[in-house]
Amino acid sequence: MLKPDLNLIRKYNQPGPRYTSYPTAPHFSEETDKQALAAQTESEDSDLSLYFHIPFCRSLCWFCGCTKIITTQQDKADHYLDLLEKEISLFLPRIKPGRKVRQLHFGGGTPNYLTPAQIDRFSSFLHSHFSFHPDAEISTELDPRTLTEEHIQSFKNLGINRASMGVQDVKPEVQEAVHRIQTDEHNRNALKWLRNAGISSCNLDLIYGLPKQTPESFEETLHHILDYSPDRLAVFSYAHVPWIMPAQKILEAKDLPEPEAKLKMLEKIITILTDNGYHYVGMDHFAKETDPLTVAQKNGTLQRNFQGYSTHGGVEICAFGMSSISQTSRSYRQNFKDITDYGQAVSEGHYPIDRGILLTDEDVMRRDIIMSIMCQLHLDYSAKSEQHGIDFKQHFADSLELLKPMEKDGLLELGEKSLQVTEQGRLFIRNIAMSFDAYLAQGESQKGKFSKTV
Ligand code: SF4
Repeated sequence: MLKPDLNLIRKYNQPGPRYTSYPTAPHFSEETDKQALAAQTESEDSDLSLYFHIPFCRSLCWFCGCTKIITTQQDKADHYLDLLEKEISLFLPRIKPGRKVRQLHFGGGTPNYLTPAQIDRFSSFLHSHFSFHPDAEISTELDPRTLTEEHIQSFKNLGINRASMGVQDVKPEVQEAVHRIQTDEHNRNALKWLRNAGISSCNLDLIYGLPKQTPESFEETLHHILDYSPDRLAVFSYAHVPWIMPAQKILEAKDLPEPEAKLKMLEKIITILTDNGYHYVGMDHFAKETDPLTVAQKNGTLQRNFQGYSTHGGVEICAFGMSSISQTSRSYRQNFKDITDYGQAVSEGHYPIDRGILLTDEDVMRRDIIMSIMCQLHLDYSAKSEQHGIDFKQHFADSLELLKPMEKDGLLELGEKSLQVTEQGRLFIRNIAMSFDAYLAQGESQKGKFSKTV
């Protein structure tokens, strides 16, 4: 049973990457050859993982760190769908025939900002331009405050079989302080409609570290959420970055909890969720013992990408819409974050790529090492030596040296033949992975770029 050690958390809680990619997003460059980025694709037998960013929201949650557009003009979504369909049409000739969609995800913003009719329109477009595996994992993020049963029906017709909903906190005083009023009825209705439609797999997102939260109030929120019985839970630490998200400045006058209170909340999160049948997958993620994420971690097949932890590897991530990030085995490319720049590029028939990176052999190898730590919690030196044509212990002698103090603190075991993250070390997985990050080793400052590691 994982019992968090607060002294170790105090010691290791430093800014660090979340490793949804390696190299991490601050290393993507506008100078990278856009044609070369656009030409990156995989062979005809690799599956596709599609991502669509729907940026619109009806009102602003003051804690939000997402790329979004606050509006109530529904026709903006029609225009945006025009752009998405055009971007897909630009992209499709690159895809060799026969490649199938294994995963599809709608993120935002708020995907259910789209009306049911708009979802139906986009659904027809997708199904006439892509072919799907019969067991494809098709998921969407949902905002229960604006969700209707008709939305669920349209998403169901599209093929959605998983959903993820933001709850953040159930306490009215917290909701008022962050400008997001979401009742128990909103949540229960959304879950009932999803389950009635046969979409039984549901993730809920919570955030700790918001104004008015205390360890005791968050404990009550956790018990309230357990009553919903979600399959997965993501419990994020609120990242206060007002220099990037100016609206967050409003929260400074509203009783943000002290760091020590946040640590106590983290202790409660891990203890209460693991005591109630949830497996700690890693980072902020928990899943029921029978959930595919838990099973994938136990089987050693868990993956990590821009959407967090995933059960499908070896797929090409093709992302569409403003700010979205695509991934191939040798590259990352990100679309323009600004709707005007994105819309102009697509309207003129250009790939809307703003920045990216072409990976070196060293990047590819370090990505594999870091993702193995993040997902499998284990490194077999001879397997990695063989896979990458190196002498692992020699090549990573500096990294292994950096890990020795963490070994003394009981975060991992450095054997002759392998590295194993301990149960306690799972909370510090980012600190362990950082030892293999060549860009951090070059001495760059992490302050302001990354959230804290725990
Ligand atoms: S938290 Fe979600 S609903 Fe709220 S503003 Fe951000 S993207 Fe929109």
